[in-house]
Amino acid sequence: MNSFPPGDPHEKLTAWLRYYEDLRLGPFYRDRRSVPGSPLGVRPAVGAVTRAAAPAESRIASPIAQAAPRQKQPASASKSSVAAPRSSPPTAAVAAAALPVLQAPSLFHASERIQGDTLDRIREDLGDCTRCRLHETRNKIVYGAGNPHASLVFVGEGPGHDEDIQGLPFVGRAGKLLTQMIEAMGLRRDDVYIANVVKCRPPENRVPEKDEVSTCSPFLLRQLAAIAPKVIVCLGNVASQAMLGTTKSISSYRGQWIDYRGSKLIATYHPAYLLRNPAAKSDVWLDLKKVMLELGLPLNRSRRAD
Ligand code: URA
Repeated sequence: MNSFPPGDPHEKLTAWLRYYEDLRLGPFYRDRRSVPGSPLGVRPAVGAVTRAAAPAESRIASPIAQAAPRQKQPASASKSSVAAPRSSPPTAAVAAAALPVLQAPSLFHASERIQGDTLDRIREDLGDCTRCRLHETRNKIVYGAGNPHASLVFVGEGPGHDEDIQGLPFVGRAGKLLTQMIEAMGLRRDDVYIANVVKCRPPENRVPEKDEVSTCSPFLLRQLAAIAPKVIVCLGNVASQAMLGTTKSISSYRGQWIDYRGSKLIATYHPAYLLRNPAAKSDVWLDLKKVMLELGLPLNRSRRAD
């Protein structure tokens, strides 16, 4: 993960606290404030921080699911053409207990939401990130792109070669298929927001390591909290497992609605998988139609992407 100074425990602690500060973990701020002579002194967090109201047992025990509690957009915030009443119930909510979950590290349980957070501020905080080893081989950070008030967010795994060159998510072959999927729903790419679990390309397109996911995911969580979409679509195993904190294969819960911090989350196959297995497109299309129903999008104007 980060290269913190070897040896001196005081310096190590200072470096870790700086790192937590970077991630805007409220409880750590408060702890430091309450400790006289704390190594970093008192530096208030930017913006007020509030604790999640939902009782712990009502939430999915997931590193990502539990971090950075949801933040509602003000009612005045304009939604894109995908705006739909939030009240329509999902077709089948998956009980949290139905998903086997990892025991989340306390770091993520401790994180809190940042009032008034914005995509611009999160990007600023991300900076020219060197928090994990992926920065060593990346060309460009792929932060995310799309409508900051989108009702629909797609979450992928991480940038590939084309994304790394352009600094934009899903612009390669799989991205073209994702664009077709979005357009098949009667939307444009600009109507939705697209982001990834990790923001730098893993070398040789390998799957991101657990520590890379846990280092980068607070930024994704803040993005999701700032956007507050009605629906989150997780694309593929890596995104779904990271978001839900499960090791279960996506095929066992694909297409099922999961309550996720005020949004409805649905996992479906990754477009790259569809390029290798076109037969799975019909499953994905079923999932996308559920999303359209949830968002109140007309099914009759849509056409399947083949
Ligand atoms: N695959 C992903 O998961 N994300 C991208 O941005 C591109 C390909």
